[in-house]
Amino acid sequence: MGSHQEEPKKKHILMLPFMAQGHIPVFLSLANLINKTYPNTYTVTIVSTSLNVEAIRSVLPPSSAVNLHVLPFRSTDYGLPANSENTNSIPYSLMLNFVCSGRSLRPHLRDLLDKILARNGCPPFCIIADIFFGWSGELAREYGVAHFTLSTCSAVGYAAYIGLWRHLPHLGMKDDEEFGIPGFPEKYRIRRNQLPENLKIADGNDDWSKFYRNDVTNIGRANSDGLLVNTVEEFETAELAILGKITGLPVYPLGPLFLERDGMSNATSSNRKIIEWLDGHPPDSVLYVSFGSQNTITRSQMMALASGLEASSVSFLWVVRSPIGFDLKIEFKDEWLPAGFEKRVKGRGLIVRNWGPQPEILEHASVKAFLTHCGWNSVMESLSRGVTLMGWPLAAEQFYNAKMLEEEVGVLVELARGPVDHVDPQKVSETVVLVMKSEKGKEMKRRATELAGKINEAVCSGGDGKIKKGSSRTNKLDDFLNSVNFQLFFTSEEIN
Ligand code: UDP
Repeated sequence: MGSHQEEPKKKHILMLPFMAQGHIPVFLSLANLINKTYPNTYTVTIVSTSLNVEAIRSVLPPSSAVNLHVLPFRSTDYGLPANSENTNSIPYSLMLNFVCSGRSLRPHLRDLLDKILARNGCPPFCIIADIFFGWSGELAREYGVAHFTLSTCSAVGYAAYIGLWRHLPHLGMKDDEEFGIPGFPEKYRIRRNQLPENLKIADGNDDWSKFYRNDVTNIGRANSDGLLVNTVEEFETAELAILGKITGLPVYPLGPLFLERDGMSNATSSNRKIIEWLDGHPPDSVLYVSFGSQNTITRSQMMALASGLEASSVSFLWVVRSPIGFDLKIEFKDEWLPAGFEKRVKGRGLIVRNWGPQPEILEHASVKAFLTHCGWNSVMESLSRGVTLMGWPLAAEQFYNAKMLEEEVGVLVELARGPVDHVDPQKVSETVVLVMKSEKGKEMKRRATELAGKINEAVCSGGDGKIKKGSSRTNKLDDFLNSVNFQLFFTSEEIN
């Protein structure tokens, strides 16, 4: 009888991440989590452009059950250089073209839905799309597919995007004038100079406004069934509630969604040298400096940062990338740092060119604090290891993350803001000493350690691959998938 019995059909989940280093691994991590938790119930396909699919394939262990599907994409149609398919190769001057280029995937996603429908006689179980692909919600509705939006940014970041871009409350405000964020309780106040550059100059008719208003913040019951957020309930309790209230949608905090490195190797010889260098430093003595996968600072800011680090006498590991105005992929030039800097700080300071093994660095006992642009992955990776933060937000929702982490959570001191801020080397040095060596720094570390406990308790899957049921992430994952199952059940009841 067994041989005649059909394998029960798995429910098909399509995932559509935005093409960026800070987004794809979060989707991949969720795909792995679903496969691991429910290997017999769901099958996940990640849909992206060909170079991104190739990059994902290269990090998937051969045993992975995650499917990949390529959608056609031609970057030159959007005024981008050929083969530009990820933010890690896009200069800020072309970022608007790049984010808008995502819309070109819409007809190809439609083709894919048609194919699935023709092959299976029914559409996929659900679509999980990036917040930058708001258009996919409409398409899902057309096909009667459940649609969830995955925010790779914080709850506070996404809620602030929605309140600020929809309403532009800063229009006509002075730089240091405080105002409330629409949809937030009155106590959340912000100043115009705490906004990213594109929002500061937005008037509602410019192209950034059109993108954010049509593709990112236009979300609600009409085009979405819920929000999945890469955060932890115990960490952003109030902010998750605000997000639910603003959108009218159920919100499922599923974080932290980190890519577990099972079966993947990150042990290149240059990475080993970095870890060996860290091994030579006492616990809690090193400051790690990095501005993420797609942001960088100006040449003069880089000089000021270097001088400040040198003056601070603190040990540091700095992942450097070419300054604003230069191709992010090119070799880092010595002339972008003060003459003789690297030699003078040798032993105490390590300069890593272009890319470092960030999770492993943050894991290392010698690292006490992280000077970061406050990208949400960096924040979660840092805080989950109890590493405190120095903030230098540069774009997007990083400004709101920095504000929350400094004012509400008490684990960050802001050093500078934006690519246009004048940076004083003495302020750099003083802030580094404050975070690394003062009583305030100790208190920040205590809070970060406490927060690490909360974040890690919410993780349901241990390194041993065993699912720890009862953690907040497992419950939320169950809640989210059950909500789709319920929805389908009631829809089919209605049809019957
Ligand atoms: N990252 C890394 N090495 C680097 C720079 C970045 O591994 O030298 C990784 C980092 O661990 C994080 C991601 O790239 O997972 C950056 O994401 P984040 O949200 O912090 O910032 P974004 O790059 O999206 O601005």
